[in-house]
Amino acid sequence: MTYKYLKTAKILYVEDDKKVREGYTKTLNRCAKELYVADDGEAGLELFKKLSIDIVVSDIKMPHMNGIDMAKAIMETAPDIPIVFTTAHNETSFLFEAIELQVDAYILKPVPIKTLMSKINKISKNILLEKVNKMQHAELQEQKNILQNIIDSEKNMLIVTDFNNISFVNNSFLDFFEIEIIEDFLKRYQTLFDIFKHNSLINSIDANIMKSDPAKAGRLFYELLKNTDEAKRIVTITDGLLKDKHYYINTVIINNNSNLYLVSLTDITKITIEKNDAEKKAYIDGLTGVYNRNKFEEVFSYELLRKERYSEPLSIAILDIDHFKEFNDNYGHLIGDEVLVMIADTLKRNIRKTDIFARWGGEEFVILFAETTLEDAIKTSDLLRKKIESLEHPIAGKITISFGVTEHREKDTSIILFKRCDEALYMAKEAGRNCIKSL
Ligand code: GH3
Ligand code: MG
Ligand code: MG
Repeated sequence: MTYKYLKTAKILYVEDDKKVREGYTKTLNRCAKELYVADDGEAGLELFKKLSIDIVVSDIKMPHMNGIDMAKAIMETAPDIPIVFTTAHNETSFLFEAIELQVDAYILKPVPIKTLMSKINKISKNILLEKVNKMQHAELQEQKNILQNIIDSEKNMLIVTDFNNISFVNNSFLDFFEIEIIEDFLKRYQTLFDIFKHNSLINSIDANIMKSDPAKAGRLFYELLKNTDEAKRIVTITDGLLKDKHYYINTVIINNNSNLYLVSLTDITKITIEKNDAEKKAYIDGLTGVYNRNKFEEVFSYELLRKERYSEPLSIAILDIDHFKEFNDNYGHLIGDEVLVMIADTLKRNIRKTDIFARWGGEEFVILFAETTLEDAIKTSDLLRKKIESLEHPIAGKITISFGVTEHREKDTSIILFKRCDEALYMAKEAGRNCIKSL
């Protein structure tokens, strides 16, 4: 029989009886990785302290220090060390003490060599398995640490959730909400859905399901995101400092059975703000701050489509400042600009929210009267005309504007409509200005 595991163990063998000792030493020497031999407890303890021993095999009754006392001393520094006692029949009191010490084994003398060898071979096997286990555990822990470090150094917020419970978040997430641990988050929010401000994406999920069955809402949300254009996978979240931030959201399924998802949130606040600014610039007139022609044309074509579908009335007006060239000539371009801003402000403040008002170019403005007949558009225009008439610029003095107004007719293209409106404006100028003409 081979004792293959013994080959991995360092053994301390303590026995005062020379004959017995020499008898076992031979076999142990052959089978163990290393063997150290002592002839009493004191010498055994000394050796143990100096060496890194895996297993102690010891007689009990010995001079100077007996096996029990030696074992106690050893266990003070190494409580888990395997100890095997060999003891004689007539040493029962020692045996009980040994039992109390909870050593690994006691073998009665005369000890059959095979029994001893297979016993310590088994112990060696356990030691080896434990070592392997520890190494694997350490390796796993190391891998876990590396993964955790990667995840924590990730700028994106990462959340592992079934949308009911949150099982993991990374540092970016904790930092965002200014919290130390996930439990602090759970005090404030019930589910992940609660962090999202309402936008069209979030509103697509039934709020009742979010509350009553978050896991189901999670599945719906996942499907929804999958079918949503990437550019529109955007959510808004309020951070720990109560600032609104915009995030690109993505979810992947980690575990299909438990409906576990990895949710990642990428901060796109800066890009969103820049995009909004750019959009604003593209749609806003630099001087007056009202919509520009671009924006007007966009809204106008949309309104035209709506009109075709619902056949509601739609009217437009073109407004032109009277004798504006004179203002410029008399008071300079800067005063001319001031007048333009003043008029734009007044008109903007006095039109309905549903109407669209824009600078058409130069000293001309345009108004889209949504769902409005010609008659009503004329009435409103006249109110606006009066408002402007009542203005007085501190330097340039009184200002007036003329209006051309028209209503959309069936088969009108936008070119025809605007041409007719322009003609009406021309008529107003011809009629002496500061008035409204319609066609
Ligand atoms: P009418 O009553 O017939 O409309 O006469 P008008 O002088 O207003 O018409 P005209 O088309 O002859 O002149 C328009 C003037 O508007 C000429 C131009 O210098 C001025 N203008 C256009 N855009 C701006 C602007 O942004 N700022 C300033 N200060 N003037 C502008
Ligand atoms: Mg003895
Ligand atoms: Mg003019």
